[in-house]
Amino acid sequence: MDSGVVTAVESRRAEAFAVRQENFCDTISFFAPGLKRFSTEEFQQKTPQAFRPVSLTGSACALQCEHCQSKILEPMIPLNPKEGLFQLAKRLHQNGTTGILISGGSDKAGAVPLKKYFPDIARIKNELGMRVMVHTGLVDRETARQLKEAGVDGVMIDIIGADETIREVYHLNTTTAAYEASLAYFSEFGLSIRPHIILGLHFGQFLGEYHALEMIQRYPVHSLILVILTPLVGTHMQNVPPPSLEDIEEFFYRARLQMPKTPIMIGCARPLGDHKVAVDHLAVDYGLNGIAYPADGVVAYAREKGLKPKFFEDSCSCGSA
Ligand code: SF4
Repeated sequence: MDSGVVTAVESRRAEAFAVRQENFCDTISFFAPGLKRFSTEEFQQKTPQAFRPVSLTGSACALQCEHCQSKILEPMIPLNPKEGLFQLAKRLHQNGTTGILISGGSDKAGAVPLKKYFPDIARIKNELGMRVMVHTGLVDRETARQLKEAGVDGVMIDIIGADETIREVYHLNTTTAAYEASLAYFSEFGLSIRPHIILGLHFGQFLGEYHALEMIQRYPVHSLILVILTPLVGTHMQNVPPPSLEDIEEFFYRARLQMPKTPIMIGCARPLGDHKVAVDHLAVDYGLNGIAYPADGVVAYAREKGLKPKFFEDSCSCGSA
């Protein structure tokens, strides 16, 4: 790389960081939710039970997406239908859990089967006072209305920006318009929207990510969560290389500039090792606002850049930062 190129990269980093400084205070958030145990020299998780994920469908999912094949459901607490969602939440609450993520596998239309759980969700909010985030999948208008009525604190949805990816990775017979419609319904009912974009979702390549960013920009979202394709053993993508750092860097730059006032977080799912170390440093360089399970050394790096770290033990999709 010649010095001219280095200067160009550095000036883009400085430009993005300046956008952050203009629009946010100087804190950066680090998250370690109880999806897994986490401890580094810089950040020790103290209450891993504080925020727990629940799968309404156990390990079952009708879609069997190429990158996941329901593996992300495995570490979640499976709902036992005999116990019921409210009783499960009550039991967790008695053991110190203050927030839950309600998730689950999808049906063949790409929706998590939420409808019969709305009375339980309303009780969890009203009687237990727990924080409730819901991973929805695609929604219709009525589902969005009932999520609002049940009082959920936030909704999470992966926004897919390419029809090819919807078909070939998610095995869904729909288009990006269905994802935009879900954002529109959430927005109509004033839900707190925390959309996710999976970088490199199309078999490690960027395809619909910038379109997803454009769609999200049109709605008043609480925050944007970026995760990175992580080739999981036992899935059809296990040998797919994760997206390149160059592509990720470019996306961080454009996301920061295009959504200057929206908190942008790096979510839990991303490749480990050197890739993670590099990504987390880039997230600081490009002025993103938070990182889940930060790589060792990144908290110190953020301090060097003049940022003040804050630590949370809930999900990066939960924060008010
Ligand atoms: S719908 Fe969700 S849980 Fe099911 S396979 Fe796809 S990513 Fe995994």
